[in-house]
Amino acid sequence: MYGLGIIKGLGVTLKHLVETYVDDFRWGVRRYTTDDGFVARQSTDTRGIFTVQYPEEKLAVPERFRYIPFLVVYDDDHPDHPGEIWCTSCGICTKVCPPQCIWIMRGKHPETGRPIPDPEYFYIDIDICMNCGLCAEYCPFDAIKMDHDYEIASYDRTTAHIFDKAKLSKPLSYWQKIAPSRALEEHLARETK
Ligand code: SF4
Ligand code: SF4
Repeated sequence: MYGLGIIKGLGVTLKHLVETYVDDFRWGVRRYTTDDGFVARQSTDTRGIFTVQYPEEKLAVPERFRYIPFLVVYDDDHPDHPGEIWCTSCGICTKVCPPQCIWIMRGKHPETGRPIPDPEYFYIDIDICMNCGLCAEYCPFDAIKMDHDYEIASYDRTTAHIFDKAKLSKPLSYWQKIAPSRALEEHLARETK
């Protein structure tokens, strides 16, 4: 029927409006003044429309959230490879990156001068990165991951947004914290290889 879609859409809006008041009555001011209220607003069960007092409050992002990539390194307390980067400098991410914003230079053995599986330089121009996640999808070594940290705005328009290897590197424990189920999935897949 002509106009049915509009009626359905208005119905959804009305439902959210009613749910807002139901939750407001249920929580009262606690919805905005207590930690429990904030946790409830962050949960996937929350209903209705509410205000998030950003930047004092931040809603949790889903595990599959994608922002500027980071490079996985072993934690400093790893028994065999403390702080070691996972990237082997294979260059696949640079090839698949649609806007070509990754730049890598493979390292060389100090004595032989032969290439080694370790990037000497690794840069990402985060002003160009479009957070597509292809680099992370294609990396054969699970070495590059999409981050959850979206607060990276700055007034600097020159080099602050060219992230180098040091700035891009984050420990494995960080990845396990922001994406526990995916980190576990990948760990199990590596173990069974
Ligand atoms: S695809 Fe992975 S291992 Fe290869 S260069 Fe990129 S981050 Fe490093
Ligand atoms: S997320 Fe997409 S645009 Fe950004 S560096 Fe990775 S492949 Fe390139």
